[in-house]
Amino acid sequence: MAPEFEPVRVPDPSLRAVQELCDVAAPYDHGHTGLFLEAMNESNRWHARRSEFFRRLWYGKPVGDITEQPFVHAHFFKMHEVLSVPRNEIVVHATSSGTTGQKSQMFWDAWTVRANQRMVARICAHHGLIDAEHARHLVDFGGIRALQRFTHNGPPVRISGFPAFLSFTVDRVRAKVTGPSGSADVRIRGSYGSVEHSVPYVGCAHHNLHVPTWSRALVRDVRTLEPLPYGKSGYLQLMSPHITSAPAQSVLMDDLAVLHAPEECGCGTATPWFEVLGRAGVFRNRSCAISAAELLKGRA
Ligand SMILES: [Zn+2]
Repeated sequence: MAPEFEPVRVPDPSLRAVQELCDVAAPYDHGHTGLFLEAMNESNRWHARRSEFFRRLWYGKPVGDITEQPFVHAHFFKMHEVLSVPRNEIVVHATSSGTTGQKSQMFWDAWTVRANQRMVARICAHHGLIDAEHARHLVDFGGIRALQRFTHNGPPVRISGFPAFLSFTVDRVRAKVTGPSGSADVRIRGSYGSVEHSVPYVGCAHHNLHVPTWSRALVRDVRTLEPLPYGKSGYLQLMSPHITSAPAQSVLMDDLAVLHAPEECGCGTATPWFEVLGRAGVFRNRSCAISAAELLKGRA
């Protein structure tokens, strides 16, 4: 078994439901509503005991429905360093790419990192994106020459990067490798993630971002912050109880999104999916992906 798939233990027995939820191997199964809520409540109690900030935010009322789950604005983590574990238990200090605007940062403990790696592995395996032994990976936005070299022979190549840079690269590959009218066999999968909320959202065969087993998504009205039904746009709230290092188990993102019912996609995946419409706010809130798109303006 690849190490990413191996079992991992919660740091404390009080997180029993969190353990059980994270042990569900199927990556797109929201049939565990009771277990998910129990895990969120365990997570809330964990953070309330360890973080003065979250204790004041939550008031200790058990969450009976995900719409009742309190959230922290993603922006808060840009301005403040809040931890729910001792500093010496932090194994990863993640920062945003910081293309422009304000840098985000988050601190992860060993359990959170390992639980996340297992989610990524299960999701990528589900989508047929794992071939760690054979595939060559290219994280680049100008590696046309490397791609031309790879094209002639050998194992498949996976390229990761911002959509704007990737689109730039793919256009050039099409032109240089296959000729302007040629068609390279390009399989493209989008993904969404952020420093503040570490769960990976990977596009399905129809390029939609379904919510995995271990998280839930809500969209809230930009003025009232009330939860909205499917099809309405607002701020995206993402929840996942496995995050123990900081009270980021429920984050209200800066991004505007629309949530859709599973069947609206048509790919057969049984969980809801969301569409990211862009980032709310002023210049300093711009995401790295949006900045990348602007850097390329006029270069195509
Ligand atoms: Zn789908």
